[in-house]
Amino acid sequence: MSPIAQEVARRRTFGIISHPDAGKTTLTEKLLYFSGAIQMAGTVKGKKTGKFATSDWMEIEKQRGISVASSVMQFDYREHVINLLDTPGHQDFSEDTYRVLTAVDSALMVIDAAKGVEEQTIKLLNVCRLRDTPIVTFMNKYDREVRDSLELLDEVESVLKIQCAPITWPIGMGKTFRGVYHLLNDEILLFAPGEDRNIEDVEIIKGIDNPRLDELFPLEIENTRMELELVRGASHPFSLEDFLAGKQTPVFFGSAINNFGVREILNALIDWAPAPQHRDATVRDVQPDEEKFSGFVFKIQANMDPKHRDRIAFLRVCSGKFERGMKMKHLRLDRDVAANSVVTFMASSREQVEEAYAGDIIGVPNHGNIQIGDSFSEGEKLAFTGIPYFAPELFRTVRIRNPLKIKQLQKGLQQLGEEGAVQVFKPLSGADLIIGAVGVLQFEVVKSRLENEYGVDAIFENASVHSTRWVSCEDARMLADFEKSLVLNLARDAADNLAYLAPNRVNLELAQERWPKVTFHATREHS
Ligand code: GDP
Repeated sequence: MSPIAQEVARRRTFGIISHPDAGKTTLTEKLLYFSGAIQMAGTVKGKKTGKFATSDWMEIEKQRGISVASSVMQFDYREHVINLLDTPGHQDFSEDTYRVLTAVDSALMVIDAAKGVEEQTIKLLNVCRLRDTPIVTFMNKYDREVRDSLELLDEVESVLKIQCAPITWPIGMGKTFRGVYHLLNDEILLFAPGEDRNIEDVEIIKGIDNPRLDELFPLEIENTRMELELVRGASHPFSLEDFLAGKQTPVFFGSAINNFGVREILNALIDWAPAPQHRDATVRDVQPDEEKFSGFVFKIQANMDPKHRDRIAFLRVCSGKFERGMKMKHLRLDRDVAANSVVTFMASSREQVEEAYAGDIIGVPNHGNIQIGDSFSEGEKLAFTGIPYFAPELFRTVRIRNPLKIKQLQKGLQQLGEEGAVQVFKPLSGADLIIGAVGVLQFEVVKSRLENEYGVDAIFENASVHSTRWVSCEDARMLADFEKSLVLNLARDAADNLAYLAPNRVNLELAQERWPKVTFHATREHS
């Protein structure tokens, strides 16, 4: 194996998909804690602990306690390099959350076992499905009264349409949570509550029929043995092939806050989750262990401080080796980029990167000339695909107080649209611009950036749009007819693509029924 291939083989890049409050932050902290990346759990997000990360990048981020440093966390575990990409949730849920998932090789789905499958998890899983990303599942909060475990598996299978292969199985729950049985190893990991307990402390009992179990907790173990028979009969045995194809998810049970079940997840990611994969770059497929460097930008974060207009472009390395000082080409602009100020992201701070390989994320500071989806290489004309725009779900009409500023407004929205901060639609009829997002924070960011960077005082009002779809049709005449008939519902986005703006769901369904030859797309590739 070449040195580059060795580096690729020991990398894992993943993100967490979950609904707010399922335990993503807690689990992230524990993962970092167990890898030794942080000394003390509880420092990932300022929001929860009152401590803010050292960087003072975005004012809004600071106010909300979201830190740039936690966007990407790199840590070592079992001789592997793990990149954990943050998937912003809560109020900071945005298109970035979706896009991050286009840059990972696997995902960890965290479910609050008291609640089951929730709305945001469904949305994020659908994004993973675009690339058949392998998913590991963690059923969290077994130290509480939770729902029936078999019922939870059933819900995951029926709602998320993915097979479940339980790897561990819980013994009891809440006050009588005793631990989990590991189906593949035939051993019981005993649960002991405690937030600061070391992961290595877990006591293990070999064999589900071990009489010691009957002595320790006679009531729960009988029930577990019965459940296991059902589980073995009703669920799927683990298949690595099906997991890698995104058809099956290995399921683990535990309690993040009590550090229980965390090691099993890390081991699953290392043993089963894929190393960085090949990527489609339009002209050809790029292999991760190729000699030459290449990568694409999946997220751009702006600095809200008007004195520092830098933006940082998050680039996923797809092949080769990135080294400080090397020349890399920004292919869309056909321009060399000085790679001296590139940064990487460690668990504790932003650090200067010396080298990076496929699966790693590097941050490229720039003044607004990099866009989401841009490809970089050492010169070869590559264009990575699979970093789409997602149909927005929230809409606002944009007006300005001072009509003389219309040019600045248009310019600002055009640039913010290109950067991916928000999506901009110009209706074919009517003068007001419409902006679309998947999270409300995006509107706040855009409003404040319009003010700071373009001197525009914009007013956002609710728009009577429910959803949007990009439209295409092979038959040009039919498309022209379609445009003419539905002109009131049509708009062009920042890249001049035609989009249908539906005032409600029924309207969208009717339009699709009436125009069967017109295709309505929920995502669009960068052009
Ligand atoms: P996030 O919104 O997904 O990042 O969720 P957090 O990690 O902030 O957790 C939400 C709440 O659930 C917090 O109050 C946590 O303390 C709590 N929590 C997380 N994991 C567990 C667990 O294993 N058991 C219990 N009882 N609570 C937990």
